[in-house]
Amino acid sequence: MSRYWSAVVHGLTPYVPGEQPKLPNLVKLNTNENPYGPSPRVLEALRAEVGDSLRLYPDPVSERLRQAIAMRHEVTATNVFVGNGSDEVLAHTFQALLKHDAPVLFPDITYSFYPVYCRLYGIEYQQLPLTGSFEIDIDDYLKPNGGIIFPNPNAPTARLLAQPEIERLIQRSAGSVVVIDEAYVNFGGVSAVPLISRYPNLLVTQTLSKSRSLAGLRVGYAIGHPDLIEALNRVKDSFNSYPLNRFAQAGAVAAMEDQAYFEDTWRKVIDSRRRLVAGLLNLDFEVTPSTANFVFVRHPRRAGAELAAQLRERGIVVRNFQNPARIAPYLRISIGTDAQCDALIASLREILSESAAESSSSGHPQLS
Ligand SMILES: *Cc1c(COP(=O)(O)O)cnc(C)c1O
Repeated sequence: MSRYWSAVVHGLTPYVPGEQPKLPNLVKLNTNENPYGPSPRVLEALRAEVGDSLRLYPDPVSERLRQAIAMRHEVTATNVFVGNGSDEVLAHTFQALLKHDAPVLFPDITYSFYPVYCRLYGIEYQQLPLTGSFEIDIDDYLKPNGGIIFPNPNAPTARLLAQPEIERLIQRSAGSVVVIDEAYVNFGGVSAVPLISRYPNLLVTQTLSKSRSLAGLRVGYAIGHPDLIEALNRVKDSFNSYPLNRFAQAGAVAAMEDQAYFEDTWRKVIDSRRRLVAGLLNLDFEVTPSTANFVFVRHPRRAGAELAAQLRERGIVVRNFQNPARIAPYLRISIGTDAQCDALIASLREILSESAAESSSSGHPQLS
């Protein structure tokens, strides 16, 4: 009963993740998972963990994994923090590095977990509008703040901010931490990780959920100056000393090492994205330029929620956000295999031709 709740719980509006429906044969394009499975080496590493050692706690500091991540990014393990999904890394980041007197700044259209963390930790925030073409204007962020955070490419818009702009922002924000959430950077973006050696106020987060096909394992990480990493460790060790279990650590090490396999899946996703975009343009969709494993699109004559519902009836799930109102007309569609993208295009063609027939037979031209 809610009378037992603490005051903070009464004030929470939790994040709502995309659904994980239990229906068979669903074309699932709603949560930006990788359509290709993890590499055989990852599966082998997971199998090797099944045994008596499970009675023992895992390594609390995930030493091998932090080494593997450091090697991949050409930094040292003291620059690396790992967590149970980058969501947990981000949660600790808000509490450890972004809670100050001035508000945290992030875009009005962005990962909707950010305001949720702010409310959980009592952090003041300000959302700055993206431009009309969904771009981040760095000049908007050059004002007093308690920290800055956004994904690059941004979500759910898929737009990439150019590297020189990121560097200009970091330089001009020396008094606060700039967090670049690179959940989607492997699908054609440029990582800010090489900048961490020059900027002690830069923290970059990445995840194994999307580009390394391990959403089910829950592993994410942050890279930054050791002082930033120490702040995260202080929060982590005041919360849960063992955030990564034995399977997560072993599977993630193998995933960081098997670069060739994952690079191949990134290439395939990028090729499918090109094909899907062509198909969508052909059906009159407006497509926001994408550097991610999803596209953000709208149809000039059809509402986003309506299209999403009609696709669902045909066994295809995509995501539509009703907030803020400005993005309600849009669909966020994860890039699937070519076969899944073809199924999507075929269904959309059917839906759009049916509604065209209905609106001409009713005699009332449809308003747009
Ligand atoms: C998916 C996503 C995350 C969270 O990833 P996990 O590692 O699965 O927790 C973080 N930021 C953005 C922008 C995302 O889209």
